[in-house]
Amino acid sequence: MTTISILGLGAMGTALANALLDAGHAVTVWNRTPGKDEALVSRGARRAQTPAEAIAASELVVICLVDYAGVETMLASAEKELSGRVVANLTTGTPKQARALAAWVEAQGAAYVDGGIMAVPPMIGTPASFIFYSGNQPAFERHKAALEAFGDAVYVGPDAGAAPLNDIALLGILDGILSGYLHAAALIRASGGTAEGFTPLARRWAESMISLFPDLAKQIDSGDYRAEGGSNLAMQAAAMDQMVEAARDEGVDPVLIEPMRALIHQRVADGFGTDDSAGVIELLFLNGRGK
Ligand code: NDP
Repeated sequence: MTTISILGLGAMGTALANALLDAGHAVTVWNRTPGKDEALVSRGARRAQTPAEAIAASELVVICLVDYAGVETMLASAEKELSGRVVANLTTGTPKQARALAAWVEAQGAAYVDGGIMAVPPMIGTPASFIFYSGNQPAFERHKAALEAFGDAVYVGPDAGAAPLNDIALLGILDGILSGYLHAAALIRASGGTAEGFTPLARRWAESMISLFPDLAKQIDSGDYRAEGGSNLAMQAAAMDQMVEAARDEGVDPVLIEPMRALIHQRVADGFGTDDSAGVIELLFLNGRGK
């Protein structure tokens, strides 16, 4: 059993604290607004009056606030207690914010681990939950067993920015899937169908498209986008024109599919009409091809 402090008792921090209590850990909790810890205290958690008191109580300090600005202000108020602690910051942020905070925390004599939570609060502590971690590896390894109370702990490297990078990369996939589904469901609804009736086919199609990821990955890593027997971009540009026209005809705004159409046309205009769709990635790097 390890003593662990949790700072931030919003929906996510509360779920994290409950998972630790379920796993039998001694837990100290702090939240800026009083009163959010009552159910946790009645389950055996200890209430800290200040962030400094919560940080002093445990070697492992888990933070889950709404943003980094709050984390920075809170930690600055408890600077003296940080030495010797392991700060596991599970607040969502950017890789740049994580790297800057890691440097500051480590300069206070503490170890910094960043976390990107790939779950919603009811999933915490279930097999469906996983969390990316990055930063100080020895500190992560020392506390991995405790952190696994939240879900599978996936370490992605010593760069503190790696966990938020993987987090936002996966959220990009979520947005893409959601956009595609909403566009498709709007078309079905606009012509009198139901989203529920259409959804089994949508799932079947999405699952078969997701199975193409490994082939796309090979093309992206090699930079060889030739469409050998596949679906070339010139054909896809024509198909996307039809998709946009059909959406308008059916009374649906094509706003969610227009950006991809524009990129595909750009790639064709650049002379890559015989390539496969993965080549569109070349238009996304702001500073030339990715590392
Ligand atoms: P909530 O809005 O439920 O809670 C926000 C928490 O942040 C509260 O405890 C709030 O304290 C605290 N807070 C905000 N500003 C400050 C500040 N300046 N100083 C101290 N405390 C502050 O959010 P969640 O718990 O849902 O989310 C927390 C983090 O978890 C976010 O970074 C979110 O992106 C991430 N996350 C959430 C998921 C979700 O589905 N909920 C999924 C994956 C990640 P107070 O009570 O005083 O307002």
